[in-house]
Amino acid sequence: MRLLTTIGRRLGWKLFISYLVVIVVGVVSLAVTAELSAPSALVRHTGHMEGMMGGSSGMMDDLLRSFRTAVNEVLAVAALAAFITAVAVSTFVTRRIVGPIQQMQQASQRIAAGDYQERVTASSQDELGALADAFNQMAQQLEQTEQRRRQLIGDAAHELRTPLSSIKSVMEGLVDGVLPAEPATFVNLQREVSRLQRLVHDLEELSRAEAGQIPLEWRTLDVAALVEAAAGRLRPQFADKGVVLLLDMPPGLPEIEGDSGRLTQVLLNLLGNALQYTPAGGRVTIQLRAEGRHVIIRVQDTGLGLAPEHLSHIFERFYRVDKSRSRAGGGSGVGLTIAKYLVEAHGGRLAAASPGLGQGSTFTITLNVKREK
Ligand code: ADP
Repeated sequence: MRLLTTIGRRLGWKLFISYLVVIVVGVVSLAVTAELSAPSALVRHTGHMEGMMGGSSGMMDDLLRSFRTAVNEVLAVAALAAFITAVAVSTFVTRRIVGPIQQMQQASQRIAAGDYQERVTASSQDELGALADAFNQMAQQLEQTEQRRRQLIGDAAHELRTPLSSIKSVMEGLVDGVLPAEPATFVNLQREVSRLQRLVHDLEELSRAEAGQIPLEWRTLDVAALVEAAAGRLRPQFADKGVVLLLDMPPGLPEIEGDSGRLTQVLLNLLGNALQYTPAGGRVTIQLRAEGRHVIIRVQDTGLGLAPEHLSHIFERFYRVDKSRSRAGGGSGVGLTIAKYLVEAHGGRLAAASPGLGQGSTFTITLNVKREK
């Protein structure tokens, strides 16, 4: 029983036993065939010699017996050679197959224990090599996910710390009587709580976007109407600040496919940023163009602009060029990160460009034209 359990658990033993079964079946069938058909074949083939040699039936029996012994001897030697070969081949194959599998098993245990840098070496070009490659890809994905998770938690904690500590200090001031219990103090508190609320909402969106879990409601969309509606929503704020908002769009733009709510979210984010980073007297232009199989939306402002060293980072989460300025303006630094994920989920691209500090910036959304069915 224990032997059976051991065999059941070891691939090497299973392979060896399967070779052995083939050998035993081969030897037995050879022996049986020889036993059954050899006498008649021998009689048939040597019958004509009997007359020539003046043979008797006793001689024929002798011949048969010797033949059987010879066949058995040959079979025994062949069986031994096959057995030795089976041991050698099964050991070799086992090493080739079981070795990498054991390596992967140990590596997966180490990954499960948190060592995400673990990789296996793919030594062959066959299915096992492909399995090792797939394993390494999975390990790499896990490592990246884990890295993102750690970073997100670290960033989130860092971002939550500021509003929490200002709430705490206002509360302490109130308790100690240092701060007066008047509306201005509570308005201050309320602002910090709102910031926290916005941050938590942004974090939720960000983690869903990073995991590719923001569901999109695909519809056929008129991109000009979408842009006009988004611009319309922010027009009062532009007027309040004294920034001109211009729309430049040719008629007859092709339709696109996408989620109108999510694309509006992206547009509001870009327009909101353009407004925030453009001083009074400035101008923001939304330009729409059809270029080949794409519809291009450019949000161009005459505002602060971006220095080249910042330009490459602004889509990173929590990245702000001027932390104090953005914080005061309520930005958590994830708006562009989410916007980029959303545009990419639509199969499009979001890019930023700026000639330099103080020279305005341009954000370009590239979306695919609706495919003809
Ligand atoms: P925030 O919530 O801080 O606005 P975003 O992800 O939307 O976060 O933007 C990230 C950073 O990129 C901003 O903090 C700002 O420094 C910079 N930025 C975004 N849009 C513009 C713009 N139109 N002009 C200049 N800087 C911009």
